[in-house]
Formats: sequence, structure tokens, C-alpha cells
Amino acid sequence: MTKHGVVLGPEDAVVAAAARHFSFPPPRTGGDSCRKLAAQVDLGAAVMGSWLDSMKASSPRHRLMAPLAGAADAEHDDWMERHPSALERFEALAAAAKGKQVAVFLDYDGTLSPIVEDPDRAVMTDEMREAVRGVAARFPTAIVSGRCRDKVFGFVGLEELYYAGSHGMDIRGPTADPNNHGKPAAEFLPVIEEAYAALVGSVEASIPGAKVENNKFCLSVHFRCVEEAAWGALFERVRAVLRDYPGLRLTQGRKVLEVRPMIKWDKGKALEFLLDALGYAERSDVFPVYVGDDRTDEDAFKVLRSRGQGAGILVSRFPKETAASFSLRDPAEVRDFLRRLVDANAT
Ligand SMILES: [Mg+2]
Repeated sequence: MTKHGVVLGPEDAVVAAAARHFSFPPPRTGGDSCRKLAAQVDLGAAVMGSWLDSMKASSPRHRLMAPLAGAADAEHDDWMERHPSALERFEALAAAAKGKQVAVFLDYDGTLSPIVEDPDRAVMTDEMREAVRGVAARFPTAIVSGRCRDKVFGFVGLEELYYAGSHGMDIRGPTADPNNHGKPAAEFLPVIEEAYAALVGSVEASIPGAKVENNKFCLSVHFRCVEEAAWGALFERVRAVLRDYPGLRLTQGRKVLEVRPMIKWDKGKALEFLLDALGYAERSDVFPVYVGDDRTDEDAFKVLRSRGQGAGILVSRFPKETAASFSLRDPAEVRDFLRRLVDANAT
């Protein structure tokens, strides 16, 4: 298949590319990691405290409560110096990309759609969909999300994109064949199903507002509707369930705890996988643009930094530690940025 002036394989090329650079499925990490998890789980109060701190730190509600406006302004200005707006610096970005093959990688929640109380209602606007459609008509474009690939496809609804769901563990190219895609973590499916049922029974049943989502290759425990006083109890319940599943590990995103197979696979690996599948892995004249708002997107930003290519763009209203080079404030600015990308390549 030829698209955007490069020869792209169908999904079987995606899988073949994965086989060259990653063992497929990727190797399970061994007993050491399982022991590490056990150690982590058993550290008790100290670990619990640090997880709670982390859960609170990633909550926009806490940032909104930050006092000392003057100090916050200075911190924000300093951060913006180091991570300037991709809109304000658009001309410089376009100049850096000139003559190169641009490829666009987009997180979904908090990037293309606002973070909402009910994760099932995280729909994107028609204006955003049109902007993404415009970008995909000009550049290879992928959605890279922690969510189940089918769910993200349901939200976005554009056949012409690549979709990397479950943090990139479930990848599908822009064709209509739903069965032909990469499944780096397929061997974990039965375990994830079992852990999902256990988490629903333990966490959803006892913590008001908690919602466990089965993303097929990973599980999300959403606590955006849980009273902060119950976050500790929620974490304890999740941790207790995971003691029975040493092959699974716990990570944290924005108002969500995520349970994933203990394999080395993240959004950075997904980005490398997709670049390789597009035939760009060894090319120096490629300009990947990755836009994301979450801690899990940092792995992709780091890949771009280490490749010395393209631009990582963090979506955030608040200063935070990031490997991204640029920033955008919210999904509305992401939409405007995508429109400018389209306009700059209108001819
Ligand atoms: Mg996100």
C-alpha cells in the first residue's frame, strides 16, 4: 500500500517489523521483576504514602488549589521558557520539519478529548475529528492510547489512522481488517480477564465512584469520581488483588491506576514500533510529532529526545517535569495546532 509517498505495508508488515526489532511477543520479564513487585507490594505504609502522594500530585484539583500566585506565575514563566507553546513557536517547528517526512502521533484522553468524570463519555468534538482527519490526509497519523483499541476507535471513528491501544500493546494499521494486527501481549489475556473480575468484585463493589475498565490488554481503575478520603482504601484494595497476579504490574496515570502485563512495552516502544512499520526507523529525514498529556506519554517523549528527531508536545496547563520540548494548554489548543499543520501543508 502506498500512502503519503512512502510504501506502507499492511498490518502483516507491522507485525514483521515488530519481529525484527522486538521479540514478538516481547519477552516476559523474569522472576526478578515479579519479586520486585512483591517487594513493592509488601513495603506497606511507606509505599502506600508515596502512591497516595503521587495520586494527589497528578490531580488537577490539587494544582488548582495551589496558593502563592506570584510564585506560581514565576514557576510557570520559567517552565514556558523551557517548554514553549507549540502554537506560538509554530513557524520554528515548521521550519525544522521542512523537507522532512512528518508523522503525527496523538494520545487520546486529555489530548484529543477533555478529561471527563465518566471515561465512557470522553468523546471528541466534531471540530477535533475534522482536524485529525485533515492531518491524516497529509501525514501518517496514529492514536496511541492506554485504552482498548476498539474503544478509542469507537471515539475517533476514522479508518485512515493507525490505532495503538493498551499503551501500544494492541496495534492496528489503517485497513478495515480488524483481525490482522499486532498483539504483543496476547498471552496475558486470560490473566487480565481474571484480574478484571477480581478488581470489579473488590474495588467497584466497595469504593463508591470507583470504575474498573477492561482495556483488553490492560485494566484501568478510574478514581476521578472517588472521594479523596477513599483513595487510600482504593489503592489498598487494588494492591491486595494484585498480590495474586505477580505477572501484572501497577502504574499510575491521571486519576487512574493502571494494571498491565509485566512486559517491557510502553508508549515509547509503540512509537518506535510504528516508526519502524512506516519504514522510518533508519531515516534521518523524518519529523515525528508526538502530542500527549500524561505520565505514560513521557516514554514517547524520551524516544524522540534520544533519536534527536521531531517534537514532543505536552498538553498541560501546569508546569510539570517532562521530556517534551513544547507544550499546549488543552485539547482546544491541540485542535488549533492540528489545523495549523493542515493549513501549512494545504498545497
Ligand atoms: Mg492522556
